Amino acid sequence: MQELTLLLKKSFGFDSFRPLQDEVIRRVIDKKDSLALMPTGGGKSICYQLPALYLPGTAIVVSPLIALMKDQVNGLTLNGIPAATLNSMMTEDARRQLRRQCVEGKYKLLYMSPETLMNELEGLLSRMDVSLVAIDEAHCVSRWGHDFRPEYAQLSAVKEHFPGLPVVALTATADKITRLDIIDKLKLDDPQIFISSFDRPNLSLTVRRGLDKKEKLTAIVNFIRRRKGQSGILYCMKRADAEALAARLRAGSIRAAAYHAGLPAAERERAQDDFINDRIEVVCATIAFGMGIDKSNVRWIIHYNMPGSIENYYQEIGRAGRDGLDSDTLLFYSLADLVLLRRFAEESGQNDVNMEKLDRMQRYCETDICRRRILLNYFGEEAEHDCGNCDVCRNPPQRFDGSILVQKALSAILRTDERVGMNMLIDILRASGRAELRQLGYDKLKTYGAGRDLPFNIWKEYLYQMLQLGYAEIDYANARTLKVTPLGRKVLFGEAGAMLTVYREAEQPRPAKKEKTERGVRQPIRIVEAGSPEETLMDSLRQLRLRIAQKEGVPAYIIFSDDALHEMAHKKPLTPEAFATIRGVGDVKLQRYGAVFVALICHVLKA
Ligand code: ADP
Ligand code: ZN
Repeated sequence: MQELTLLLKKSFGFDSFRPLQDEVIRRVIDKKDSLALMPTGGGKSICYQLPALYLPGTAIVVSPLIALMKDQVNGLTLNGIPAATLNSMMTEDARRQLRRQCVEGKYKLLYMSPETLMNELEGLLSRMDVSLVAIDEAHCVSRWGHDFRPEYAQLSAVKEHFPGLPVVALTATADKITRLDIIDKLKLDDPQIFISSFDRPNLSLTVRRGLDKKEKLTAIVNFIRRRKGQSGILYCMKRADAEALAARLRAGSIRAAAYHAGLPAAERERAQDDFINDRIEVVCATIAFGMGIDKSNVRWIIHYNMPGSIENYYQEIGRAGRDGLDSDTLLFYSLADLVLLRRFAEESGQNDVNMEKLDRMQRYCETDICRRRILLNYFGEEAEHDCGNCDVCRNPPQRFDGSILVQKALSAILRTDERVGMNMLIDILRASGRAELRQLGYDKLKTYGAGRDLPFNIWKEYLYQMLQLGYAEIDYANARTLKVTPLGRKVLFGEAGAMLTVYREAEQPRPAKKEKTERGVRQPIRIVEAGSPEETLMDSLRQLRLRIAQKEGVPAYIIFSDDALHEMAHKKPLTPEAFATIRGVGDVKLQRYGAVFVALICHVLKA
């Protein structure tokens, strides 16, 4: 093991393995098959890259997207590891030359799509000394996964052709049936299944509900302003929203672009490229965005609308904080989203499954227990402790006797003959004076103005709670009007009390307590004071990184991760030896960049 740890530091600059990495690596080196399930950012690549370096010959890596392959090859090359991708974008000449080099054993890793692999199986691959086959995004082989690709289904041919070759299948999303299906479809031989915790403790979780469009926009702008210069993705359900939000952010001097399937390919590519290379901070996207990018320093994700399932939500927030540094996620939830998503689910043809998924998502949004526990439970993991890094944990619910409040609302609902929706009801309670109310005679009701002491948004919050507690319900089929339930009647007539939860403002500051948890890595971003020497140093390091990245034609995070820069700013290494101890500095990066970074640090400290 010692030997592998040394190889890890030398080649990639990391001191220790993440959970399960070493076990998967051992298994591959022992020439046995395995299936590894790790969350996004869990460190799947090392699981085959390290064995590739350790074993003689070339590792074949199957990946669905050219962009992902290129990113990986860039990263490996900068660490001095010979790697290449054989793909359909290359000229026939370039391919021929690459094939020759592969037969000569020039590369430790060769990336290709499943189609290319099938084409090369009998030709190139049989002439190469192949050490192992890694199949990334392995859930694509299964119809049960969320991203079935027919090309992947043919990959069973790998084991048929090379029965003795170790195959490692890797994925971040696979429930039980998908897992078994992957093993079956790939014909894995007595595979060991490794499942690492899906917990991502470095992602903070916050849900806000009941904000209208304007309030959401203000909240978003404030959120982004507090995170100046950090990359983030704003997911929207509708294309028009993605475009409108990008325009609004740009009007507020935030560098943002829209990304959705309706835009011309060139425009989409530019947005993605600008984002990866830190030329813009924000992408306002529909779900089409994110698949093909490995950017490790995405610092935040906002959901402008509620996603349709917990799987989707978790995959999307998973795109933040791959480097293990603290990252924030914020989800806006509204009844309007719910209505729309219900309609999609109903129209989907898989009504039951999709409704059930939507229902779980809704309950996640409305919960007042630790959100991470709900997520982990959903993915079949036991979570015994509250996480301390979600809005519920940061601000535990305090309850109060809300019987009178509930009675006022329920009474108003009944007095309108259950013919009003939430907004109208609140207007009645608050005596808004709206002309429409007067026309309908609602200003004559006994409850008109009975709740004028509470602001609109707080009423909304309490009404949501009443729905959740089962005192009232929404008639979705009937203009979303409110109905009083039998339980509600009990409260109304004083036969039962109603405890409500005190309204709390969202987005609380992060807790001061920061540690590495057992379940996963959690590296806090050090809070650097504006104008402090550390901030100056961090800025200079970032600029140097960007200059080098531009010169070498790769994204900045491939030169050094944000994590590495933070460690440099904190440890301030003044010699090559000290620089070598930074996470992410292997032998080759030390040689290539050690001198310039050390010189910069010396220079800034002297100034
Ligand atoms: P995945 O493919 O599972 O999403 P990656 O392989 O891209 O994850 O790794 C995510 C990030 O974690 C990368 O920035 C990688 O360099 C880093 N990483 C991987 N293994 C380790 C480790 N043992 N120590 C520190 N960082 C690591
Ligand atoms: Zn929590």
